[in-house]
Amino acid sequence: MKRIALAALLVAASGVSADELSGADKLRVVYSNQFSWTRDGLPIVTVRVMEHRPSVTLSAEGMRVVPDGEGGPEVKGGATWTVRIVDGKPGRVVTHNVVASFAPSDTEALQAELATWRAKKIATRTFETGALFAVKGQVLDSRKILVAAAGTTGGTPFPELVDRPRGTVEAVDERGVVVRNDSILWFEPGPAGTIALADVDNERGGKETRRYFGKIYVTVDNAGQLAVVNAVPEDKLLAGLVPAEMSASSPPEALKAQAVAARNELLAKIGTRHLTDPYRLCSTVHCQVYAGAGREDARATAAVQATRGELLVRDHDGGLVDAVYSASCGGHGENNENVWGGTPDLSLRGRLDADPLLAARLPKFATIGDAELRAWLAIGPSADGPWCARPKEAQINFRWQKPIDLAALESRVAVGRLRELTVLERGVSGRATRLRLVGDRGEKELHGELEIRRALGNLKSAMFVLDATRDASGHLASLTAIGGGHGHGVGMCQVGAVGMASSGKSYTDILRQYYPASHVRKLY
Ligand SMILES: [Zn+2]
Ligand SMILES: [Zn+2]
Repeated sequence: MKRIALAALLVAASGVSADELSGADKLRVVYSNQFSWTRDGLPIVTVRVMEHRPSVTLSAEGMRVVPDGEGGPEVKGGATWTVRIVDGKPGRVVTHNVVASFAPSDTEALQAELATWRAKKIATRTFETGALFAVKGQVLDSRKILVAAAGTTGGTPFPELVDRPRGTVEAVDERGVVVRNDSILWFEPGPAGTIALADVDNERGGKETRRYFGKIYVTVDNAGQLAVVNAVPEDKLLAGLVPAEMSASSPPEALKAQAVAARNELLAKIGTRHLTDPYRLCSTVHCQVYAGAGREDARATAAVQATRGELLVRDHDGGLVDAVYSASCGGHGENNENVWGGTPDLSLRGRLDADPLLAARLPKFATIGDAELRAWLAIGPSADGPWCARPKEAQINFRWQKPIDLAALESRVAVGRLRELTVLERGVSGRATRLRLVGDRGEKELHGELEIRRALGNLKSAMFVLDATRDASGHLASLTAIGGGHGHGVGMCQVGAVGMASSGKSYTDILRQYYPASHVRKLY
């Protein structure tokens, strides 16, 4: 059994020189989950800004080209560099079939799993994902040990990069100065602190010039073309992300709760994706939409700084909470397993989104059926209601109604003209997780809140009851969803966070409300 360690070992002992993204094997760092640190002790996250490009153009007054990264030789040149790839060769990836995964501490279960495969004479490999953070004697472990079994199918595919892509990266400035390096070129910003990059894909399908904080490296991507990667300090990255997640005009304590949740989500993703790419995260919805510098708002930046290095960890094992959030829970949160399947997470239990004193007066949610949910949905926005019923955002998110396009639904589910829609199962918040549709030509079941929301025409949430009318032949003539909340409802309710902050609650109160069995820990 050969064990490949992909996980990061991140050490920021005092005295170690910072910004160490360079070194003898100059590609090792960009492919590993190893963090480097800014001089003032913040992790540097590598975010892909572009890839699959034959050439790219970067510019900044006073920009420096340091081919191998900090500590290496520096090239004096102009303010604009055009970079291209020469003799680019793609990398080679082998896909394994992962059949089980374990916490690193769960060695007994891991050994038992390996023994069962040995008994069947099937070869196994183990891989580590996630990251091990070790900062000034503090350790935070988000790793998992994956077991892959040779020749099996039906598990989770796991890609292993067996040959890195190769090529020469060549840059030419506006005066014709040429710099060539094997596989990578680093660019450091001038006094303005940012580097401009031309022709970045925007979210509207066009291209635009964007600026980025920190350093940029241009390297060979898996297709043998160019990838442009921003090595961005964590605070600058979060300052760009938080205003996109929550309005910067929200109360400071709500913004702080959002900043901690966003930091958790950011670090939790490191080492779990892009395992065969020369960066840790991308800048699209796959990881998190990141548009570079200029998206910050002083109020959100202040929340990032006020919570510097703070992460939400589970009480029972100290692991990173999967700090998911959605716009509005509709007054009651949902359990993680009811939305995404998998094992129940103690920190992602759906609860009543209200002050405990109010909770006693609200309907109980133990065994929720259509009648109970209908009564619940009759509670409208109010200044003394559930937390997410209070702010102005409650007017659009807390309760809603939407007529369902029956013709579109009938063509989507293809069981003929519809006669009956029945919610067969609901989660703890009343969100529909199983829906039966009966038509003239048969019946069909939909599973999962997202699939149900989409099938019914992109409903805001699966917390709904249906009002139907029928024609003389018993077919549905009209269908309206009466609903509450916006989004999956797991983890933090963003409108509720605003409601709590407006009522004088602190960001730690807010995090405790939405992520039970967890606490805030300052790691750096
Ligand atoms: Zn991604
Ligand atoms: Zn809520």
